[in-house]
Amino acid sequence: MPPLAIFDRAIVRMLPAVPRPLVQKLSERYIAGPELKDARETVRKLNAEGKVATIDVLGEEITTKDEAAAIVRAYLDVFADIEHCGLDSGVSVKLTALGLNLDYDICRANLRTVVEDAASRRNFVRIDMEDSSTTDETLRLYRELREDGHDNVGVVLQATLRRTIDDVAALADLQPSVRLCKGIYVEPPQVAYQDFGEVRASYVRALDVLLATAGHVGIATHDEWLLDEGRRLVAEHGLGPDAYEFQMLLGVRPDLGTGLVREGHRLRIYVPFGRHWYEYSLRRLQENPKLAGYIAADTLGRLIGRSNGV
Ligand SMILES: Cc1cc2nc3c(=O)[nH]c(=O)nc-3n(C[C@H](O)[C@H](O)[C@H](O)COP(=O)(O)OP(=O)(O)OC[C@H]3O[C@@H](n4cnc5c(N)ncnc54)[C@H](O)[C@@H]3O)c2cc1C
Repeated sequence: MPPLAIFDRAIVRMLPAVPRPLVQKLSERYIAGPELKDARETVRKLNAEGKVATIDVLGEEITTKDEAAAIVRAYLDVFADIEHCGLDSGVSVKLTALGLNLDYDICRANLRTVVEDAASRRNFVRIDMEDSSTTDETLRLYRELREDGHDNVGVVLQATLRRTIDDVAALADLQPSVRLCKGIYVEPPQVAYQDFGEVRASYVRALDVLLATAGHVGIATHDEWLLDEGRRLVAEHGLGPDAYEFQMLLGVRPDLGTGLVREGHRLRIYVPFGRHWYEYSLRRLQENPKLAGYIAADTLGRLIGRSNGV
């Protein structure tokens, strides 16, 4: 059964028309805050709960070299802060934030700067996967870095994409560190499974092969059925805690995450921060099964407020 009912899907289509202040209010739980110190405090709390983190500087689809350079500088500040404060956290980067849509070579140079700074501080960089127009170049950049000897970098594959099982095989020689997620971008049927059950089946197929071939696997999902499949496959492959971890998003099903930690699994939480919160917030809200209720309650609240003259 798909998680979103027909009414909720209609609301999701309307999301871009929802006023920005309401989007911001509804998505507060998914974002640490506007500043690095907000991410720091969030990661501190997570670490105290036995959870590790990956910090994401919000920003994507940038349009100038200067914007990309600013994102690079923000990541260097993040690495310094993680080291200074002794936090247990890596980072996640989006290649369109580092200039992928401007110029491949600019993006490669920016990514290299981030990965090399991370290496100098014994940190790790996960390259997020964006929409399918970027998959080839993202995997190419990942391979180039690895073949140049950079081992502190990992990539993401999306179960939604039909190509993913082939990508798993094509990456195997690198013994890669892979985060497997469903994939959030809306893709056409030629490239992506559209059916909820097919996406789950694709996830399980890819996970099974990754657990046998990858160097490290991040099982990124809040889908309880997939979490059970993840537990089952990890046990079947006889893997210890160094070979895999579960991964979740800040603000999504923290109860499930706490349960995984109690069971002894390693859990990493994705912690975004920064001032460019809008696109990320829309993507999170479109997956929130309670979205329609929240928006209806807020609208009703404002209507009642208005009729009371507040
Ligand atoms: C650590 C991490 C990193 C990710 N990185 C990428 C990436 O690089 N590229 C990419 O395309 N996608 C990425 N994603 C997003 C991913 O592709 C999915 O879109 C997202 O995780 C939702 O899928 P799901 O497996 O949780 O299953 P769903 O079926 O979508 O969700 C399962 C259940 O989780 C709960 N839930 C899910 N989302 C929300 C929400 N926003 N608010 C409230 N409840 C919610 C609901 O109870 C829902 O029924 C990442 C996800 C995680 C956890």
